[in-house]
Amino acid sequence: SENQPKYKRILLKLSGEALAGDKKMGLDMPTVTEICKSIKKCYDVGTEIGIVVGGGNYWRGRSSENMDRVRADHIGMLATAMNALAVADVLESLGCQVRVQTAIDMKQIAEPYIRQKAVRHFEKGRIVIFGCGTGSPFFSTDSAAALRAAEINADILLKATMVDGIYDKDPHKYDDAVKYDSLTHQQILVQSLKVMDSAAAAMCRENKTPILVFDLSRPDNIFDAVMGKKIGTVVSD
Ligand code: UDP
Repeated sequence: SENQPKYKRILLKLSGEALAGDKKMGLDMPTVTEICKSIKKCYDVGTEIGIVVGGGNYWRGRSSENMDRVRADHIGMLATAMNALAVADVLESLGCQVRVQTAIDMKQIAEPYIRQKAVRHFEKGRIVIFGCGTGSPFFSTDSAAALRAAEINADILLKATMVDGIYDKDPHKYDDAVKYDSLTHQQILVQSLKVMDSAAAAMCRENKTPILVFDLSRPDNIFDAVMGKKIGTVVSD
């Protein structure tokens, strides 16, 4: 029927950048609220929702060549935990039940990531926000999204970005860039299309996780995506 979501369980990847709005740094709460309102609509139609948050709005990579890469990545993962807590807070204020699970233990603040418990939360109608990426340096939150999507058997990985889909070349640089409606995982890797880093893309291919890449400048696209409206670019096997 009209109010039936297309997907039973989703893994939504929100980049840190998306949470910063026009400020580009830190959190822009009106922007976070708009995003969360769309997530709430998905929640209300009964879709089970896992969210992986990025951290690029606070921290990305090393501050300089002198900085130890592993330590820089530790800081980056802590940044994602801050975003996870902020998104949880807004979702709760909108009436959602939410749990935050982190890949690095911080038990006074959040639950540790335990796959079975996350699944149990979904079954009880709770949104689960996954913080701290994979918990390991040298990875990205896109890899964490691909990993969690596989672990929780998500029907789709929704990658909300700053462009309205996947193009053959950068649409911000080339006027004649062509958008794809659909692609295979293999095409992404062979053509090195900029969707996510290659580790994340390879993981999605291995596990046959479909990906929908779409534009978050219109926050309600999250809901439209869940309802199966034709937006963005879909990547499948
Ligand atoms: N990070 C990491 N391991 C992970 C996920 C993230 O070390 O599994 C660190 C890494 O330093 C990264 C930062 O956290 O630059 C923020 O994550 P990301 O750049 O993926 O965030 P986004 O671009 O989605 O905002």
